[in-house]
Amino acid sequence: MNSAAIEAQLAEIKHLALDMDGTIYLGGTLFDFTPDFLKWLREMGIGYTFLTNNSSKSAADYLAHLREMNLQVHSDQLYTSGMATIDYLRTRHPEFRHLFLLGTESLCDEFRQAGFSIVCQSSEAEPDAVVVAFDSELVYSRLCLAGYWIEQGKPYIATHPDLVCPTDQRTLLVDCGSICACLEKATGRAPDVVLGKPHPLMLEAIMRRFDLEPRHLAMIGDRLSTDMAMAKNAAAMGILVLTGEATVADLEDCPAPPDLVAADLSEVGRRLSLARSRAV
Ligand SMILES: [Mg+2]
Repeated sequence: MNSAAIEAQLAEIKHLALDMDGTIYLGGTLFDFTPDFLKWLREMGIGYTFLTNNSSKSAADYLAHLREMNLQVHSDQLYTSGMATIDYLRTRHPEFRHLFLLGTESLCDEFRQAGFSIVCQSSEAEPDAVVVAFDSELVYSRLCLAGYWIEQGKPYIATHPDLVCPTDQRTLLVDCGSICACLEKATGRAPDVVLGKPHPLMLEAIMRRFDLEPRHLAMIGDRLSTDMAMAKNAAAMGILVLTGEATVADLEDCPAPPDLVAADLSEVGRRLSLARSRAV
């Protein structure tokens, strides 16, 4: 796309979906340009929502985490793959009330608050469906029960596809996609649906929540295979920042190339500002 077309696209943006790790912070450290960028968005009346595939924490946990970094975030400015799964079940499968949820206690609480009953301790109570999340409190007996119900043919939903969760600690965080791969080895079944990025559901939910069309929404993130692929799947603008995983070299032969590549969020702010001033 030529630069005039990109500028016209930027001038239409009313809302940004922001990836977190690698985009607004790295590990536990907030980028120094992030507070100014968010302040500028508020002044411009551009909305924003933080997105994460990580379903090991509830929305309440994430809000607390962001507030520890001095970012004042409202609950409707956060969307996790756990929340996306709740929205998916409510809208597509309202008949599923009893879930076998392989997830953290914090995520189980979030599902209970959304009205689901969680059955996960024994094979006595039969679930309507199995949900597998990033269970960082994984217990072998519950993994086996999840496998049992999957093998029994229950509808099977994964919160997101990530194989590992990035960390700066000396460990490997085995994520939802790897837990599903383990269950697939054991049962022969892959999940019926995998939510989270790059599934377009999270961006579609944001468009519904804020009454936006795809041309009003841009997804900003540091990963091509998730953030940029999701933007493409939802027909939203994809803006890649080079402060996390992807490098310029990764853009060669990329199946879902971003609409715009920026060094960091401050450059995104400058590009947005310029496009808006020229469009007036
Ligand atoms: Mg990221």
